Amino acid sequence: MRDNFSAKNIRLLQTRVGHCCSNPDCRRPTIGPGLDEDSTVNIGVASHITAASEGGPRYDWSLTTEDRRSTNNGIWLCQVCAKLIDSDVARHTTNVLKDWKRRAVERAFRAIATLESETPAATQHYLGLKLMKQTMNSSTHLGFQRKTQPMPSLPGFCMRPRAM
Ligand SMILES: [Zn+2]
Repeated sequence: MRDNFSAKNIRLLQTRVGHCCSNPDCRRPTIGPGLDEDSTVNIGVASHITAASEGGPRYDWSLTTEDRRSTNNGIWLCQVCAKLIDSDVARHTTNVLKDWKRRAVERAFRAIATLESETPAATQHYLGLKLMKQTMNSSTHLGFQRKTQPMPSLPGFCMRPRAM
């Protein structure tokens, strides 16, 4: 028997991360417009951190059915990342997923409270990319022109970099 999430818990999981994938390397928005004015497209999944049924990924015997169905045991992901975490369990442990979730909730809160969605770690990642780009520029004679180009766009509004 699968301990599925209730519709209310699915809504909570997606809303608390601003409808973005919680994988810090993805952060893809999971909801957007359909072609028709009255339609939307949702490519997000409320994934179980520890499996909904026995034998599933990261299954935890010690949890009750209620625990397994609670929002504490859920993480909002895009469909690709939902498949990824269950296909590569060794890399995507319970602790890794809980960390992703904590950071995604923090990003979503920062996004609405401060218009700043970056966590310090993500900012460092961004700065790393910027530094790498500058290093590349300085090693070419066209560096002057290239510096005037904008940063390559990063996927998803949840990855909006800080203005530097
Ligand atoms: Zn994703």
